[in-house]
Amino acid sequence: MALLAKKPKGTADVVPSKSYMWHTVEKLTAETAQQYGFKEIRIPTFEDTGLFVRSVGETTDVVQKEMYTVSAAGDSQFTLRPEGTAGVMRAMLENGVMNEGFPQKVYYILSCFRHENVQAGRLREFHQFGCEMVGSASPRADAEVISLAKSVLDRVGLQNIVLNLNSIGCPECREKYRQALREYFEPHRDELCRTCQERLDKNPMRLLDCKSAEDQAIAKDAPVILDYLCDDCKKHFDGVKEYLGIMGIDYVVNPKIVRGLDYYTRTVFEFITTEIGAQGTVCAGGRYDGLIEELGGAKTPALGFGMGLERLLLVMQKQNCDFMQDKTCDLYFATMGEASVNKALCLTRAARDEGFFVEYDLVERGLKPQMKYADKIGAKFVIVLGDNEIESGKAKLKNMATGEQTDISIGDDFVPQFSQAMVNSMFSGLESEFGGL
Ligand code: ATP
Ligand code: MG
Repeated sequence: MALLAKKPKGTADVVPSKSYMWHTVEKLTAETAQQYGFKEIRIPTFEDTGLFVRSVGETTDVVQKEMYTVSAAGDSQFTLRPEGTAGVMRAMLENGVMNEGFPQKVYYILSCFRHENVQAGRLREFHQFGCEMVGSASPRADAEVISLAKSVLDRVGLQNIVLNLNSIGCPECREKYRQALREYFEPHRDELCRTCQERLDKNPMRLLDCKSAEDQAIAKDAPVILDYLCDDCKKHFDGVKEYLGIMGIDYVVNPKIVRGLDYYTRTVFEFITTEIGAQGTVCAGGRYDGLIEELGGAKTPALGFGMGLERLLLVMQKQNCDFMQDKTCDLYFATMGEASVNKALCLTRAARDEGFFVEYDLVERGLKPQMKYADKIGAKFVIVLGDNEIESGKAKLKNMATGEQTDISIGDDFVPQFSQAMVNSMFSGLESEFGGL
């Protein structure tokens, strides 16, 4: 069979047998954010192109090469969001969330789109869990946001992931630093990759983010931003480190962390693992005190992070972390003929109304394949509904784990009887687990 269509390069399907992994990370990330007082925000998948150009930055890789920009007849230009922060800030401004008192704390789980070279851990459509805190300039806020990211990583069971911390200062300290970088790289101009030659003129800090081994070697002894921080930025950074110390969160100061997006100021951080190859940054974020003003709001300090969920899942699988399994079927009705099906339909509805997970035959199979199916889906109990059962109003409830059969009414009191049987079976499960106490 020749399929007419295949998925676009760099996208991924989640098949039904694997979706439990996504449910696990979606649940644990959201629950952890809520424990820190963050509430969910939802935003559109596409935004005005100008929003990303202004916020992410004209000279960044994302804006220069990676955006999916679309337009329909008569419309202006839209771009599929390459990240979450810009749209979230736009939405908070547009809906007056910024006027509701500070701090405002939001989280989101959304898809992002970037036209990148596809490789392990680098897709064209990927998913981020993100958090943003608006309205605090205190280093306490930085420590809190980093602590939240760390709690999420702990909660999903990740190990050996290192918090890399840096400060990239404010626009003032950065101007001096840029100058120092230009002076350092200028003599090597011809040895740099084409992109970095451009970066040298437009945005020399981007040079430190280059993935080419040759450029990284040249950048090895480049000046370090931390030597250029003004007194206020230095004090802020010391504060962040002190709070992290008090909370017992380990970190390494890594002056090479500069982040790929333009809007960052002061604190930047990445949680990095060496276990999934070159794309080891699972979570990245920082402070962006200038962004809200850039988008037309009042000058407001803010910070946040984005966590790549595909990368998170890669590490979780590598480290054999626990996943929440899908629920399994409580009860399967095996049916024989129309009268039996009709009875199964009524009993199924009643049991589902009480919250049970119930199935019956939908493909009109014989009894044997039905039993096989019940076994395959892991049904905890099976009831075979034949003519005798319907006539007598009684059936056998089969416990699939033990093979034990008990009589059960299939009249009006079916659901309470089945509930009792479920409780009993859980109890006998416990008894055997604790040696028949
Ligand atoms: P990288 O240096 O890996 O390209 P970035 O600086 O472009 O990352 P951010 O914009 O900070 O990444 O995105 C936050 C997180 O989202 C990253 O740390 C990563 O986990 C994830 N991420 C970014 N780009 C991709 C991608 N193309 N495919 C999968 N995950 C991604
Ligand atoms: Mg990138």
